[in-house]
Amino acid sequence: MNLILMGLPGAGKGTQAEKIVEKYPIPHISTGDMFRLAIKEGTELGQKAKSYMDEGALVPDEVTIGIVEERLSKDDCQKGFLLDGFPRTLAQAEALDELLAKMNKSIDYVLHVDVDTDELVERLTGRRICPSCGATYHIKFNPPKQEGICDKDGEKLIQRKDDQPDTVKNRLEVNLEQTQPMLDFYSDKGSLVKIDGSQQIDQVFHDIDEKLKNLM
Ligand SMILES: [Zn+2]
Repeated sequence: MNLILMGLPGAGKGTQAEKIVEKYPIPHISTGDMFRLAIKEGTELGQKAKSYMDEGALVPDEVTIGIVEERLSKDDCQKGFLLDGFPRTLAQAEALDELLAKMNKSIDYVLHVDVDTDELVERLTGRRICPSCGATYHIKFNPPKQEGICDKDGEKLIQRKDDQPDTVKNRLEVNLEQTQPMLDFYSDKGSLVKIDGSQQIDQVFHDIDEKLKNLM
């Protein structure tokens, strides 16, 4: 069960990843966790990655793909894996393909949790946080008892700069541009599965599960 999970920010990818690994015996491999592990283990590639990250630079693809190879070679990946946050570009997707061929593996499904941009903007711009205790709210999906005020300490809620409409729209556009060539790549290979992410969380998982059952 070799899976890739894709979706734009706000599409609910993290929640679905948790549900998938709760039911199936495969590890959830997020890019961040993968880098942290390589750095913690002090592997040569981990040290290389760290030197780039310390400078605030992007880790080059050949280092990243090497770290992916180390991670996918671990025992817990024998029954499969769920990649989340990698690949991020078409070049990485092609490199992953080569790597998997070398390991006699291939991707079964690329699960694309799809939510239209307008809805994502609504989800992402509705977030509010309390600057004092860090509690998070959403004006529509999880509103505080009193508008604009933290339930816990009465502090005035704020909207992070990252959650303001222009920033959100920009981030989504950049993401979309990067993602589309990858979606086309996997679609051509026949492994892309589009999941309607605008549904309730449990229904989204139900649709994913219907596909994954076929692999068992
Ligand atoms: Zn608070």
